[in-house]
Amino acid sequence: MYIGRFAPSPTGPMHFGSLVTAVASYLDAKHHDGLWKVRMEDLDQPRVVKQSDKTILDTLHQHGFQWDDEIIYQSHRIDIYENYVSNLNQKENTYFCECSRKEIADSAMTGIDGMIYPGTCRDKKLDAQYHALRIKAEDICMAFEDKIQGVIQQNILKDFGDFILKRSDGIYAYQLAVVIDDALQNINTIIRGADLIDSTSRQIFLQKKLSLPSINYGHIPIATFNQKKLSKENQSTPVDHSNIKDNLIACLKFLGQDYEVIEKENTLTNFWATAIQLWDISVVPKIKTIEI
Ligand SMILES: [Zn+2]
Repeated sequence: MYIGRFAPSPTGPMHFGSLVTAVASYLDAKHHDGLWKVRMEDLDQPRVVKQSDKTILDTLHQHGFQWDDEIIYQSHRIDIYENYVSNLNQKENTYFCECSRKEIADSAMTGIDGMIYPGTCRDKKLDAQYHALRIKAEDICMAFEDKIQGVIQQNILKDFGDFILKRSDGIYAYQLAVVIDDALQNINTIIRGADLIDSTSRQIFLQKKLSLPSINYGHIPIATFNQKKLSKENQSTPVDHSNIKDNLIACLKFLGQDYEVIEKENTLTNFWATAIQLWDISVVPKIKTIEI
């Protein structure tokens, strides 16, 4: 059975970009008679905005989304991440790193997603106190066939280097938490924004290291304005609840769907039924960004 998910960070209200991701992941799951789960990615507590989880769920509810199972919060799952990490530590797949951002910037090459950590602390055998935890990257190619963007291939060591599992402030890294939660929630297909496409090979690498099942991925284009990703940080307008149908139609247009039949539906229930039936992932634009 298809099990998909939508995993927002509760750092503010939903904007058009996050609504598009919700719509695409929901339609793909429901088109395959699957389940669709919601998870709050609230590990980075300093960035979390109080009550915005409620605001996000209200926006989803108002737009007629129906999620399956209870909503999980990553901040309640620290012990679970700790267990998986200690397993990696025992196998000596990890090490602690004391380098500052500046030290890394001075010696590192720039990779696909920021600096490639040069491995300075690999053999220092530092203890945990105040230090970030990194996983030892391997010189292997991770390839996957994206349901939208085609074949993606990256080398974990050469493109990313030893990446962080736990920050020096004690916060578990996104890459680690996502991989564990997706596995424990039995997620087998992820539809998300193309800004995360370069995280995927690291996540597949972690799945292998943690002996977790592999997942199918599809990365939809992300909405940009003035070439910048819409985000809560650049104050993108929150989704307006007075235009539910217009919002959803705008998402379908963005995703390349044939919305004209769907547009004629006069109730939200019928709208979704038709949109689910007509969903066609093959017409989603095979590009990483769309300027709106
Ligand atoms: Zn270091």
